[in-house]
Amino acid sequence: MELLVILFFFGLSAGAVAKIKGHSFFLWFLIGFCLPFFGTLTALFTSNDRRAGTRTRRCTECPHVMPIHMQVCTRCGADLPFPEPAPEPLRAQERLFEA
Ligand SMILES: [Zn+2]
Repeated sequence: MELLVILFFFGLSAGAVAKIKGHSFFLWFLIGFCLPFFGTLTALFTSNDRRAGTRTRRCTECPHVMPIHMQVCTRCGADLPFPEPAPEPLRAQERLFEA
């Protein structure tokens, strides 16, 4: 019985961390519940979707602009290289959108 309570709190902590980072609370609750300690740790080290969502990059094959964490272009299907800091023209464009 105590084990269930402990598992519940591991699930809760993983879910809470994931929720803060913009992921599904329920999914991460299950992960934390089934994999106590590891679920919470994994949730802590996952990328922050909310922060990543504000950064974009341009496909190398077409003019499609997408979130920086995408690895395949959603328009033309091109494999994209590991994300690097946005090139200068794109940053200038982002500043234009923010203004
Ligand atoms: Zn593309």
